[in-house]
Order: sequence, then C-alpha cells, then structure tokens
Amino acid sequence: MIKANYPTDKFKDIQTPFYYYDLETLRSTLSEIKTQIENTSFEVHYAMKANVNTSVLNEIKIAGLGADCVSGGEVQAALDAGIAPSKIVFAGVGKSDWEINLGLDNDIFCFNVESIPELEVMNELAIAKNKTANVALRINPNVSAHTHHYITTGLSENKFGINLSDLDKVTDLVLKLSNINLLGIHFHIGSQITDMTSFQDLCLKINEIQAHFDARNITLKHINVGGGLGISYEHPNHFPIPDFEAYFKVFRKHLQLKPSQTLHFELGRAVVAQCGSLISRVLYVKEGTSKKFAILDAGFTELIRPALYQAYHRIENLSSELPEEEYDVVGPICESSDTFAKEYFMNGTKRGDIIALRSAGAYGEIMASQYNLRKLPKAYTSDDLK
Ligand SMILES: *Cc1c(COP(=O)(O)O)cnc(C)c1O
Repeated sequence: MIKANYPTDKFKDIQTPFYYYDLETLRSTLSEIKTQIENTSFEVHYAMKANVNTSVLNEIKIAGLGADCVSGGEVQAALDAGIAPSKIVFAGVGKSDWEINLGLDNDIFCFNVESIPELEVMNELAIAKNKTANVALRINPNVSAHTHHYITTGLSENKFGINLSDLDKVTDLVLKLSNINLLGIHFHIGSQITDMTSFQDLCLKINEIQAHFDARNITLKHINVGGGLGISYEHPNHFPIPDFEAYFKVFRKHLQLKPSQTLHFELGRAVVAQCGSLISRVLYVKEGTSKKFAILDAGFTELIRPALYQAYHRIENLSSELPEEEYDVVGPICESSDTFAKEYFMNGTKRGDIIALRSAGAYGEIMASQYNLRKLPKAYTSDDLK
C-alpha cells in the first residue's frame, strides 16, 4: 500500500489525535494556482471556512491569495492574518448587523448579498456610517453540481442566493439604494465538484445573465464564480494537487469575460484538503463474530465528514507493513455514526499503531467539537517536526 511520506518516528512521541499539515504540499498547491492565474484577470480568494490554522493561513497570505469569508469571525481572522481588506469578500445568507458593520468599517472589497432584506439592512447600516457598501448579487443559477445533496447549493429550492426570476426586481432595488454600489454578480454551486461540465454549465448560464445586465446597460466590474473544485479523496498520494489547469481552462474557454472585468474564485477545499491528515493511534482491535473493529483515539469530534456527509477518507496504517486485513475503523464517541470506514482494507493492525486519515486539511480541524468533553486536538506542521 502506498502511504504518505510522513515523519512517523516523530509522530510516536506526540499525543494523539492531532492534525498534521504538510507545508510542502500546501506550497506546491499554492504555487500551481499562481502559475495558472498568472497574466490573467483571475483572482483567487481562499475560502476561510475550510481551515484557519495559523500556519496554513500564513502560507496562503504569503502566496498572495485573498479571502472569502462567511462570518464576522472569518473576516476578523483574515484581517488578523494580514490579508488586505481589498482582497476580502464576505458571503452568507444570515449576516448579523455587527458582521456587516465589521466589513464596512474595514472597507472590504465586496459583500456577496443573498436577499432583498439583507440589501435594505446593509444600506441603512452604510448610511449610518456614511459609507458605501460594494456588493455582488449572489444569484442562484439553477445549475446542478452533481455532488452530495448536503453540499449542493445552486439549485432553485435552496436557502442560498437570489432566484433568477427575482433578478429584475432585486436589480431595480439595488440601483435605488443610496449607499449600495453594485460591483458584480456571484455564484457558488456546491462543493467537491469533480465533473468539469458542472462548471461549464455555470459559465453558459453566466453568459446569459450577463446579456441580461447588458440589455439594461449595467456594467459589472466583476464576476465571482465561487468555489467547489473537488479533490481526490481516493488517491491523495497520486493526486496531491487538484487539476487547476483544467479547472481554470473551463472558465477561460466558456465564460465571456469582458476586457474590463475581473473573474473571482473562492476555492477552499482544493487549496488545503490534501496538505492535512488527522493522525490517530489504535486503542484496541476488537474481534467481533464476523468482523474486526479498529478502535481509534480519534472520532467524529476531530473529523466529522464521514458522519455528516458519508464522506470517504483514505486510511493508512503508518506503523504496519503486515498483509492487509479488513476492518471497521471506528472512533470512541458514544454514537454509532462515529465510524470512519466499514470493511476497509488496512495493513494488519494492533494497539498503538499510528493511523493517518488523509485529505483532512479541509473541513477537518475547523469543524472539530468538544462533544463528550473531548479536548480540541493540537496541530503540527512539517516545519514544526523538522
Ligand atoms: C463553502 C464556500 C466556498 C468554498 O467551497 P469549496 O468547496 O471548499 O471550494 C466558496 N464560496 C462560498 C460562498 C462558500 O459557501
């Protein structure tokens, strides 16, 4: 079995579970993104909600990416990380007044606005500060992301975004509001999208919507196509870096961008997922009547994706080269859903073995909880363990 090239010897001395971030993988990923958008009018805002580990954020800042935030906490974290306000976009269906005010006070680049009542409140808050809020309208393009229904966001019966049928009404309103400046339009159709035709469909839809704004003589400064590029959870060792070339090419080829326009992306998972693993120890191997359970000291409190989305994560026993055997790999939490994988083939496993749950850099550490009064785990980078 091919495994991550990790310093397993050093892992042995560290309290498990913990998150491990391979900064070389992160740096190569960021450098590939930069190569692909060089000499284009494309700008990438890292979706903060995927991971805000300080070392990870620092690399992202150094690479010059902007930030895509979905809460005031994330706006603050982006500012604290040293990301320029002029590179911060702020989305979300339910922005509180203090969150909008935080964005206004810091003159962030753009609010992605999702409803009429939000626009009205934002206008009032901006008037009170004698400021203008730059906004992009989040439009629901009714494009299927061909992904898990929990992470599909672009279909019409959805809490996110403005429906196409309401677009005229919303545009009329935006143009009337004194302290709102319409900068662009925003989309986000879902997450873990590996079928590029979904993005192609999005481009074609955006071209139609642009024509609609053209017909009304409204010039948009930018288009924001959101995030959602998927990664290979099955083969993180073979595909540590997502195919950014193919991804950006879809937009270059199918989206009719005007020379004056910039195209914005909000990538989260594709930037950070493959650089992170959750490292755990085997507590017990329990022999059932017909199966074996590998009971880990990590559970859904540290990595909730399998329990929440039936997500697959590759599991590697870093301590064993024994022949592979079949295990149900489970955590210690008092819930049946605390199962990482069923009937999973791993090298022969015993108590004390070090296990890596791969591709845990996105929506791992950030979603950790203290359920069962467990401690939030620490995180280490490859630089820490040099
Ligand atoms: C979650 C989210 C993203 C990032 O999604 P990924 O699948 O991690 O790339 C981008 N934009 C918005 C508005 C989001 O909600």
